[in-house]
Amino acid sequence: MQTQRLRIAIQKKGRLAKECQELLKRCGVKINYTGERLVVHAENMPIDLLLVRDDDIPGLIMDGVVDLGVIGENELEEVRLERIKLGEPSQYQLLRRLDFGGCRLSIALDKDQSYNGPQDLANQRIATTYPNILKAYMDKQGVSFSTCMLNGSVEVAPRAGLADAICDLVSTGATLEANGLKEAEVIFRSKAVLIQREGSFSEEKTALIERLLTRMQGVIQAKESKYIMLHAPSETLEQVVELLPGAEDPTILPLAHEKSRVAVHLVSTENLFWETMEKLKQLGASSILVLPIEKMME
Ligand code: ATP
Ligand code: MG
Repeated sequence: MQTQRLRIAIQKKGRLAKECQELLKRCGVKINYTGERLVVHAENMPIDLLLVRDDDIPGLIMDGVVDLGVIGENELEEVRLERIKLGEPSQYQLLRRLDFGGCRLSIALDKDQSYNGPQDLANQRIATTYPNILKAYMDKQGVSFSTCMLNGSVEVAPRAGLADAICDLVSTGATLEANGLKEAEVIFRSKAVLIQREGSFSEEKTALIERLLTRMQGVIQAKESKYIMLHAPSETLEQVVELLPGAEDPTILPLAHEKSRVAVHLVSTENLFWETMEKLKQLGASSILVLPIEKMME
């Protein structure tokens, strides 16, 4: 059933939820999230948001039920492999990788166990929520193993005697450490991504998706960029500009009362570290300001 409004599925609660909401807000999509609704309507654009468990998002896209979705690549790949196995639709289009939800899927085992490579896992039982990604990896390594499917508390499986090793998501490694485990092998690196269903879209929807993508680009780029302003002696200007990250095209302006110094303004693609600021100072730079950028459009 096609609707005029663009349908976007995002996680209702969890690690991706807040940042999805923040991204849409920064893109100018006005949404009131209060209440326990499954579908919420944007007030200022023809967009409906579906707030669901992240497990459901890949399937909603692959079945063509929603137009766009934000999902972790780990979940997306797991569902894709499962659907291929079952002979169900598994197509989607990747629109862009986002700048949040970073984590890795790793095999971990008892910290006192020796580990020299995947062959050490031969015939072991590995507990995981990602049996398909794990199997794809182990098949590639040519190592046979058995699984123990767990949807939660995977990290306690070895201690509970349910498995020899685990394959689970890691971001800092603190959970592994707390459970006496060590990371042995990273098998998949993941970030949140924006995906689109296959098939045709109305002209209006195509245009709206284009607009959203341009805005997302602007939001993400702005987050990674800084506006830098400083005063520098004309005679060290070249060296000063060389120190500034990503300064292809700085603006140089005269100062009202000081003929031997100029103002330098530029958008930098990186942050300016204290060390660089100290070097700039040594070259005679002063009034160094590093400002966040809220939005940009090229
Ligand atoms: P839901 O109730 O929606 O099914 P969930 O418990 O399956 O939620 P979350 O724990 O909220 O999922 O994680 C969602 C996604 O966040 C993960 O699939 C992964 O892509 C990403 N993520 C980022 N860092 C981590 C981490 N340290 N541990 C787990 N997931 C992480
Ligand atoms: Mg889930």
